[in-house]
Amino acid sequence: MTLKVGKDSDALVRALGAVVEGLTFYDLANAAVAEMRVKVAFEELGRRKKEQLAKLEAVAGPNAAHAAVMPGIYPLDAVAKVECYVCGFVADTKAMPNQCPSCGAARYAFEKEIALTKAWEIASETERHSAVLFRESAARAAGPARTLLEELAREDEGQATLADRQLAELRT
Ligand SMILES: [Zn+2]
Repeated sequence: MTLKVGKDSDALVRALGAVVEGLTFYDLANAAVAEMRVKVAFEELGRRKKEQLAKLEAVAGPNAAHAAVMPGIYPLDAVAKVECYVCGFVADTKAMPNQCPSCGAARYAFEKEIALTKAWEIASETERHSAVLFRESAARAAGPARTLLEELAREDEGQATLADRQLAELRT
């Protein structure tokens, strides 16, 4: 019984790592871009990750996220920093300045240009990857943990399909 609980909690912690990483990525991506449709897409994707986090914490306990390790599914490096296009000053996206402390350029000098197609490409690839991780975790769990992990896998598979549909529409 102890072993089973341990396995379930390992599977949940692994899934938590993926969800925390997704949430971190979408929050940073939302803060780094200016184009409204791209912002809205990232915001919506981030909101879904926040819901998944709440569901996982309800089963794994509120402290489980501390043990979570981010699996490297999401391109965090692409959004963690912003760079002033006038002078090259680099700032953390989380602390994007309203004015460049080096050259005085306005905030927009730091905003990243991520095309809407690129945003949906990222969503399609990462959500599919994350669904695979949830499926693998579900296979190692039992009971409510397994049920939840399977539900999250289906959600992300659905989200990846939705992203593909958005991409197809943008390309026609
Ligand atoms: Zn600057």
